[in-house]
Amino acid sequence: MKTLEEVLEKWEPVIGLEVHAELTTLQTKMFCGCKLSFGDEPNTHTCPVCLGMPGALPVPNKAAIESIVLAGLATNCDIEKHSMFYRKNYVYPDMAKNFQTTQGPVAFCMRGHLELDVDAKHAGERYGVDKMSAGDETENITKTENGYRAHVGITRIHMEEDAGKMIHIGGGEGRIAGATNSLVDYNRAGTPLIELVTEPDLRTPEEARLFMQKLRQIYLAIGISDCSMEKGSLRCDGNISLRKRGTTELGTKTELKNINSFKSLHDGLYYEILRQAQALEDGEAIRQETRHWDPSAKRTIVMRVKETADDYRLFPEPDLAPFDLSDEFIDNVRKRLPELPDEKASRFEKDFALSRYDAIHLIEHRETCNLFEEAISLSEDKSADFAKGLANIIINDISAWLNADDDNRIENSPITAQRISDLVNLSVSGKISKSQQKTVFQAILDEDKDPAVIVKEKGLEQVSDTGAITAVVDKVLAENPDKVEQYKGGKTGLIGFFVGQCMKEMQGKGDPKLINQTLASKLNS
Ligand code: ADP
Ligand code: MG
Ligand code: ZN
Repeated sequence: MKTLEEVLEKWEPVIGLEVHAELTTLQTKMFCGCKLSFGDEPNTHTCPVCLGMPGALPVPNKAAIESIVLAGLATNCDIEKHSMFYRKNYVYPDMAKNFQTTQGPVAFCMRGHLELDVDAKHAGERYGVDKMSAGDETENITKTENGYRAHVGITRIHMEEDAGKMIHIGGGEGRIAGATNSLVDYNRAGTPLIELVTEPDLRTPEEARLFMQKLRQIYLAIGISDCSMEKGSLRCDGNISLRKRGTTELGTKTELKNINSFKSLHDGLYYEILRQAQALEDGEAIRQETRHWDPSAKRTIVMRVKETADDYRLFPEPDLAPFDLSDEFIDNVRKRLPELPDEKASRFEKDFALSRYDAIHLIEHRETCNLFEEAISLSEDKSADFAKGLANIIINDISAWLNADDDNRIENSPITAQRISDLVNLSVSGKISKSQQKTVFQAILDEDKDPAVIVKEKGLEQVSDTGAITAVVDKVLAENPDKVEQYKGGKTGLIGFFVGQCMKEMQGKGDPKLINQTLASKLNS
């Protein structure tokens, strides 16, 4: 297969996402009073409505409607006051009613958008960005100082309900193929679910990954779901097609179903781009089909050839009245909007003079973002230097530690806001050097002690005592009269030699700034 770069010369990838989020923070199901449960005894939270008994009547969950309106407002959607539910008919044991209640052409939330900030290191995947200058715009992107910003349209967010959970016994990896029997748990049936559909505006696997990540940050900030991709409360389907560069008609797409991690989304789309390009160049037609990304085999496999929409025979749900949301209802939901990730990043830039790059990476994860805010509130020094030092340790050292192992979490770890705040204070005030900061950070993780204690035990404290430093400077100058002569004769580059000698004398613990100043004043007098 060709490399991505070679493929991009000729082909343009077009990507659209469908993202399902279970509204896990609600108390009850979408159309009945059954408690939302996760991991309880199977079939203990069911009733005639969610079991689809004849004659049982659904009643919409008002809190769920509030949640989807909140999601719409947070993603710049128009809120449609008039919308209704439909029946999407299908037969499968996971849905006892034989239809899913969902929304039709008009959803609660329509025509939204998000902006993505893509780092320069991924700009190569977006064809032509390298030829743009900061501020230039084409299609739906703008070149920025640190990469580019992409505008991604959101078609809609609609309300629906989840199906029950099937458990297949005897097959490989819990799949139905080869199973001897299957069990069904209706606890999940009727769980409120919102589905967001994007316009086909994404062009790279990294943009798709960033979109998911940003949406997750937003949903977490507004508190509508726990957004666990691992547990399946946040799931994503990736639609992808290729078209010849320069053409506008959409090609035939394939759909990667039920992706359960950011990495799988990225890697699966990346693979599909290469696979489709190969097929097209071999003169094969792309079939509209659903595929599954297998992370261990690193390839996608066909699940099924796509059914058409007609198969579902969508028709208006006769048991639920159309909605007529009032301005008052929408305004009350609007009042609940918290500070959103984009606003937080802008505030960080403004209040702490952080770069856009630092601000965006700080808000990427709730844990690191909270750590930053807490550590800065605990510090007396709230200067730009301190904020920058704090941002650096969080974005570099702490994020690297978090990424090193899925089990690494800040809570229940030796990392606390107080310790990080103290550590950055030690280094910004010059008591320890940047490399010693790294040593102390590692020791916090290994030994679970406060930075001041570690600095003392390891004898890392920088000597900033003027008397001690002057004594060392005098000694070094006295031992090197020839070099002092040369310096005075114009070889000022020797300052580095003198600093090095002083540092050696002090076993690296001298404050470099103070040593420099003292040397300069003695040599230039
Ligand atoms: P379907 O009826 O197959 O579900 P939709 O029109 O509902 O298709 O679109 C589903 C998702 O696929 C949307 O995110 C949309 O932007 C995206 N999409 C639609 N057509 C294409 C295409 N040709 N290539 C890539 N993505 C597409
Ligand atoms: Mg669809
Ligand atoms: Zn029920």
